[in-house]
Amino acid sequence: MSGLFGNLSIKQFDLKFSDENKCLQYLADLKWKDGFVCRKCEHKNYCKGKTHFSRRCTKCKHDESATSHTVFHKCKIPLTEAFQIAFYVCKNPDISTYEISHRINIRQMTCWKFKKKIIECIEKGGGMDFYEN
Ligand SMILES: [Zn+2]
Repeated sequence: MSGLFGNLSIKQFDLKFSDENKCLQYLADLKWKDGFVCRKCEHKNYCKGKTHFSRRCTKCKHDESATSHTVFHKCKIPLTEAFQIAFYVCKNPDISTYEISHRINIRQMTCWKFKKKIIECIEKGGGMDFYEN
């Protein structure tokens, strides 16, 4: 999980992930850093998928979004907020959700729920750090 944000400072983080598209771009870059491979048929050619930054296999038409198979998939809060919570948890897994809530102004219950998801993901630990597989 720490690999997701490296050693970014809070200031660098805020600049880098200031909007949803930047977050999606980052996930897409990370996910397909070794190139696209379709999860269904292993085909390597893709075209633009139906959502921003998603990729569609040109053979079987399977569409994969930037967030699918990551802890950010089907996240009920804005991606920028989810990224912020993930950032604080990665920096310090023992941080309390009250503190996160206080720092980024997101409801404590929201922080708690998403932190729980992140920690589960870290504990499962398979493959890429933030992947849920
Ligand atoms: Zn395919």
